[in-house]
Amino acid sequence: MEISHILVPTDFSPFSDLAVQKAMSLAKIFQARVTVLHVLTLSEVNVLTSQPGNPWENVVLQIQNDMLEEVRRVTDASLELAQVSFEVVAGEPVEEITRFAEESKVDLIIMGTHGRTGLASVLLGSVTVGVIKKTCVPVMVVKCGEALK
Ligand code: ATP
Ligand code: MN
Repeated sequence: MEISHILVPTDFSPFSDLAVQKAMSLAKIFQARVTVLHVLTLSEVNVLTSQPGNPWENVVLQIQNDMLEEVRRVTDASLELAQVSFEVVAGEPVEEITRFAEESKVDLIIMGTHGRTGLASVLLGSVTVGVIKKTCVPVMVVKCGEALK
């Protein structure tokens, strides 16, 4: 198995931070590139773009910036930033994550067991379950880290 492109879907939760951290450190070992992806649901898009002076292009730039900050927050060096791309798409998270993984020939998806809801009593969040069910791409789920015990 070759790992040259890692996808890390983020919802900016502490679990996602951890997934981004693992993606960056694996990417370093395998010299892989990383795509950080955030999916906005259509209702989120409507709320965000209905604010005056906030067209879709601005929303994308803002979220790309948030993703860059997330990467910086969890990795020490600015290393390999050139190897990281930031994608923002609108739609249903499971659909869009799976579609991106297949279309962009991703070798590995890394995501949190949970996300923003973070209900510990639930084994896995619905987005993670949905992606695991739908995709043939290997999925690595992460749960524990320094910030998350
Ligand atoms: P639920 O959403 O089912 O109430 P949850 O929020 O705890 O529960 P998930 O949403 O499944 O759990 O989140 C698990 C992982 O899925 C996150 O750590 C992140 O990697 C990914 N993820 C969740 N939502 C998105 C999103 N909108 N865009 C990209 N990745 C996402
Ligand atoms: Mn969620």
